[in-house]
Amino acid sequence: MAGRYLAIALKEAARSECRFRVGAVLVKGGRVLGRSCNRRRNCSRTDFRHATFHAEEMLMRSTAARRGAVVYVARLNKAGAPLLARPCPRCQRLLVSRGIALAHYTTDAGAGTLHMS
Ligand SMILES: [Zn+2]
Repeated sequence: MAGRYLAIALKEAARSECRFRVGAVLVKGGRVLGRSCNRRRNCSRTDFRHATFHAEEMLMRSTAARRGAVVYVARLNKAGAPLLARPCPRCQRLLVSRGIALAHYTTDAGAGTLHMS
């Protein structure tokens, strides 16, 4: 089940124009509520650590979050293989604030699960 939504997140990641390509999908009750990839910010003066909106941030901007929804996050390397996409602390705080407590993410060896609080 997780694999199906991670596959959608991987497709989103493939659309990213960032150096680190990440995609995120929000799912509740078997329905995809929204999907996003990370995006460059328009400001060239920000340092590189804050130079992108993370995929989870884009997802929360574009999708009406629902309590109890599950987020799937995927990252691709240049060759198109999955990499570790565990949500960062900033995104974890954002997701929890929207009532999302469960994340599934790609790793270079498969998938991982994160319970957030
Ligand atoms: Zn993040």
